[in-house]
Amino acid sequence: MEKNFSLREFNTFGFAVKARYFQELKSMDDIHDLIKNPEFKQSRHLILSGGSNILFSSEFFDGFVVYPNLKGIETLEETDETVKIRCYCGEVWKDFVNYTVSKGLYGLENLADIPGKVGAAPVQNIGAYGAEVKDTVYQVHTIDLATGKTNVFSNEECQFSYRNSIFKTIKNTLIFAVDFVLKKHGELKLDYGNIRNYLINNNISNPTIKDVAATVKAIRAEKLPEVGVVGSVGSFFQNAIVSEEKYLELKTTYQDVPSYPVTAEQNEIPRCARNDNAVPQALVKIPTGWLIDRAGWKGYRENHVGVWDKQALVLVHYGGGKPQEILDLMKKIQESVYNKFGIEIKPEVNII
Ligand SMILES: Cc1cc2nc3c(=O)[nH]c(=O)nc-3n(C[C@H](O)[C@H](O)[C@H](O)COP(=O)(O)OP(=O)(O)OC[C@H]3O[C@@H](n4cnc5c(N)ncnc54)[C@H](O)[C@@H]3O)c2cc1C
Repeated sequence: MEKNFSLREFNTFGFAVKARYFQELKSMDDIHDLIKNPEFKQSRHLILSGGSNILFSSEFFDGFVVYPNLKGIETLEETDETVKIRCYCGEVWKDFVNYTVSKGLYGLENLADIPGKVGAAPVQNIGAYGAEVKDTVYQVHTIDLATGKTNVFSNEECQFSYRNSIFKTIKNTLIFAVDFVLKKHGELKLDYGNIRNYLINNNISNPTIKDVAATVKAIRAEKLPEVGVVGSVGSFFQNAIVSEEKYLELKTTYQDVPSYPVTAEQNEIPRCARNDNAVPQALVKIPTGWLIDRAGWKGYRENHVGVWDKQALVLVHYGGGKPQEILDLMKKIQESVYNKFGIEIKPEVNII
């Protein structure tokens, strides 16, 4: 256990935050020892993996940071159609995707190059380029950090929805492994973002899984700040989900407003927010990056922080700043978008 530990290298915003206590966990035995540790029992705690979706609200975390780093990838079962793979929480997500792509397995190629660790992937149901991790998760293995009790959540029990899962609401639960089910034969998802155009421009007419993963990586590299070079958490805000009525109202003023349908199948609305007796309302997803851009923020810079000039959904820290600067910028953008469009935008990042 480390005391007064610097988390600068453990959050991709790169803020110089310190934690009162910090402990890396490399095995189940480490986890069981931690649960008995009196300092841990008495402290507020935080599970921190790659720190690529966390914003500390101050420069001192007065609690216990747990850094799960169990490693390992195992094939559990193979049929003619599918392969079940267990991956432990400390594996780096993009390495795991590279591994499955190199085996010719379908399912994770559109999620290539997302920063962070495998254990965090189910927490916000990571998604990109028309794919979400929920479509490949078979089950999630957890341990309760208060009692030491292990549990297995089936895909359904994870209650996945847009950037959400049950793991955002249940406290004290550490994900130590995730089982994935990947397909040996499948269909590639090419219709989101610029994937298809990129393939055409590069004369790839019959793309393979590897081509799609390489395309996603290339598109991401053009649009997003490089981790370790410019501080960010990728998309700072969630995309806006509005009623069809609101969308049509917006479209009368802004004919070019982009939109995506929100279907029940996509399970975009958190279950807890649903009323099964209510008449389903048609919903529309509007890219929040477009709203922020149209409100005039793209490329804006104020001292150490700003809005990324290639993607307005991304707030950046250029170094030497404090978390409060990002929080102030967040509030200004939220107010400005609300005043212009009447839409409340919510952070995707976990603010601690
Ligand atoms: C440049 C950039 C691009 C990004 N692009 C995308 C994208 O395309 N799509 C997307 O969905 N996200 C994206 N993100 C956000 C981020 O990469 C993902 O949310 C990622 O899954 C976070 O993983 P992490 O290991 O860094 O988790 P952390 O930031 O350390 O933690 C995130 C949350 O998960 C919890 N947590 C972490 N590990 C565990 C565990 N083992 N058990 C239980 N809870 C845990 C934490 O307490 C916290 O609440 C991007 C981030 C960056 C910096």
